[in-house]
Amino acid sequence: MPSRKIKRAQKSIPRATKLSARERWLAVLAKFTLNMEAPASKRYWAPDFECASHDRIGDIQNEKLAAMIPYLYEHSPFYRAKFKAARLRPKDIASADDLAKFPVTTKDEMARDVTAHRPWGTYTPIDDRRWRGHGWMVFSTSGTTATPRSFRYTSFDRELWARTSARALYAMGVRAGDSALTCTNYNPHVFFWSLHHALNLMNVTVIPGGVPTERRIQMIDLYRPTLLVATPSYSLHLANSMRQAGFDPVASSIAKVICGGEPASGVSSTRARIEQAWNAELHDVYGCTEAIPAGWAFTCREGLARDPVSTHVQEDLQIWELVDPDTFEPVAPGGRGLTVVTNLNSEGSPQLRFLVGDFATFDYGKCVCGRTFARAIGGFNGRADDMLNIRGLKLFPSVVEEIVRGFDHFGNEFQIVLETEGVMDSFTIVVELRDAADESLQARLSAELEAAVIRQCELRPRVSVVAPGTLPPTEFKARRVIDRRRAL
Ligand SMILES: [Zn+2]
Repeated sequence: MPSRKIKRAQKSIPRATKLSARERWLAVLAKFTLNMEAPASKRYWAPDFECASHDRIGDIQNEKLAAMIPYLYEHSPFYRAKFKAARLRPKDIASADDLAKFPVTTKDEMARDVTAHRPWGTYTPIDDRRWRGHGWMVFSTSGTTATPRSFRYTSFDRELWARTSARALYAMGVRAGDSALTCTNYNPHVFFWSLHHALNLMNVTVIPGGVPTERRIQMIDLYRPTLLVATPSYSLHLANSMRQAGFDPVASSIAKVICGGEPASGVSSTRARIEQAWNAELHDVYGCTEAIPAGWAFTCREGLARDPVSTHVQEDLQIWELVDPDTFEPVAPGGRGLTVVTNLNSEGSPQLRFLVGDFATFDYGKCVCGRTFARAIGGFNGRADDMLNIRGLKLFPSVVEEIVRGFDHFGNEFQIVLETEGVMDSFTIVVELRDAADESLQARLSAELEAAVIRQCELRPRVSVVAPGTLPPTEFKARRVIDRRRAL
């Protein structure tokens, strides 16, 4: 097993006084990662953490935080400048209770940093020397016009990533002997790579699906994988393509569809479509490129049977907070706010109060699965960045998705098209029929969709119903919003 680095780092703990900030940080990480190479029981991969009391989780968070802050301060000019601007010293953040003193870290701040310090920025504590000796993989945000925000993760991170993602997969019911078709094109997307290494660790065989859809259909037929790893949009496209090719996804070997990259289980009509299309359980993970590895929030098997679905955050690895969207002040317990994460589980990217920016509500009660990690009730259904402002009203594309996919007559693809008409926004929803339909049915569906959107979103859309196959199929992540509005 590739645990040499973790064991070596742990051995150095007794000599803690002689260690550098980096060595001390890695030793603490290693201490909490040992004995996580295999499941501890039939039900839990690492029950010492997954089912720990809130007090114990708090102690782990504080011990990690106390080692992480000096490391980050010493090695990241970006964070050092943030400390100085806030007139704080590293010792002022001694525990999770002190975190609110530190201003949240935004994507805009990072974007400015990377523009000034191409190509890596200074928001991670990895320098060129460390990277040359210990580099594993680069992940980045998509950036076609601006400089992408890039993240260098180390080989140490890869090991942490495999173990802690395995915990999440195990909670979904994934076991040795399963096999997974991973639908990805060798892209720098954290979702697939974290799962890939976890599946390796779990003795789950991986069928690399970096091939066209037709080959993926053939692979399902030939190799009979039990797990499908894909974005939710692509999992629906693949099921459709399978039917068109004369195969029945319902009768296929797929028993679980594991999604990431887009909201899935929290959008109930999308969840129903995926589960019905494959006759399989839908699970999903949630995280971000900035604060990985392995902070994936995940759905547990037992919790899936509850309504609404809930998503566990791995609290011994990350501290999750919810803040007010306007003031960034912490919301009261049980309140709704934007997600902020402090990543306690990474050499390459231990971010401090990073504003991920999804709206969520946390429940800190014990889950039916026995895990004590907090849960986002209803899952994570949209980043504040994706929120649209139409005629002064706020709208999440996932709300439109929920409504559209509640109509059996509509296919999986849809678009929201925004344009400027005079001084007003025009708001059009383009939906595709699943099968050809006569004009009177089209008119009825159009009126029903319009009424449903007005009822739930308080916005009147124009509805355009188009023939099957008109909209481009989603090959990876869906592009749902076409915003052609001009600034007035
Ligand atoms: Zn649970």
